[in-house]
Amino acid sequence: QQDPRIARISSAIRVIPDFPKPGIMFQDITTLLLDTKAFKDTIDLFVERYRDKNISVVAGVEARGFIFGPPIALAIGAKFVPMRKPNKLPGEVISEEYSLEYGTDKMEMHVGAVEAGEHALVIDDLIATGGTLCAAVKLLGKRVGVHVVECACVIELLGLKGRERLGDRPLFVLVNST
Ligand code: AMP
Repeated sequence: QQDPRIARISSAIRVIPDFPKPGIMFQDITTLLLDTKAFKDTIDLFVERYRDKNISVVAGVEARGFIFGPPIALAIGAKFVPMRKPNKLPGEVISEEYSLEYGTDKMEMHVGAVEAGEHALVIDDLIATGGTLCAAVKLLGKRVGVHVVECACVIELLGLKGRERLGDRPLFVLVNST
């Protein structure tokens, strides 16, 4: 049975067709942030799942992972690590390239932010093809030796096989959308 808080969260997310380009149904979480109960419920649901799991790192993916990640990190007593677009972080970085529909993108993280053997949660607002989360998992896992306990998103776009692309890495989402 579904948690009763999920329905309110789901209806607080606004869907804007054809943004940023024709054919994309953009899932706009800014309206969720305006609904103080739904926003709090969103954070609470993640905190309830990840507290007492020995997670020392919450890694948030730019940009909307920066909205949901920090309150979760504070509540579970973990540090927050930003996974950024290229050339934004001022210190020494390690980076991972990943493919997009057209071309490639890069994700960067500060060297020294996390250590091998730490347990991490990776968070973003939404999983579509899974390319973004895969890059974050590779950076933390393969490159640094962090144990990624789970990836978490508010929304999963079904039909793009993002969950499959993540392989055996567990994915937890609150809301499914088509
Ligand atoms: P992907 O790498 O294909 O899983 O795409 C996920 C990333 O793109 C996330 O950071 C999302 O914020 C963003 N994204 C992709 N599709 C959408 C969509 N339909 N609505 C809102 N954000 C999206």
